[in-house]
Amino acid sequence: MSQTLSCDPKGIILPCPSCDTGNRIPYARLDQQGRCGSCHQNLPLPSLPVEIDDASAFAALLSQSPLPVVIDFWAPWCGPCRMMAPEYAKAAHQAAGEAIFVKVNTEDHPDLAGRFHVQGIPAFALLRGGQIIRQTSGAQMAPQLLEWMRRG
Ligand SMILES: [Zn+2]
Repeated sequence: MSQTLSCDPKGIILPCPSCDTGNRIPYARLDQQGRCGSCHQNLPLPSLPVEIDDASAFAALLSQSPLPVVIDFWAPWCGPCRMMAPEYAKAAHQAAGEAIFVKVNTEDHPDLAGRFHVQGIPAFALLRGGQIIRQTSGAQMAPQLLEWMRRG
């Protein structure tokens, strides 16, 4: 099973747990349960981190998501980033339907990291309605990260 979901400028691609068909969930409907276009079973709410590979997908997600968005800025060479990846995935799973967790590879997308003035990684940002609510950095366990996200 994949550890992340992919996305494009129109939405998140969510594989159907019943038939494995990739369903695109439009960003504006990330808080609603969809149905598989192929087998018509209900789809779960996204519960895996979403890998951002595209600046326009990133912009669309941030501006259209009805749910808060947590961003993990990471890089493949960063040991603490790799170490906490399972914790980040755990937090994403526990916060399904509450927030969308995304990952930005700062090596591939230094421009996106630059916009958030990311200095050291791993670094995290919480956004609501496209606005930055708070940022933090350093490896964290899932409970810490959720506590940080849910604070006020
Ligand atoms: Zn299906």
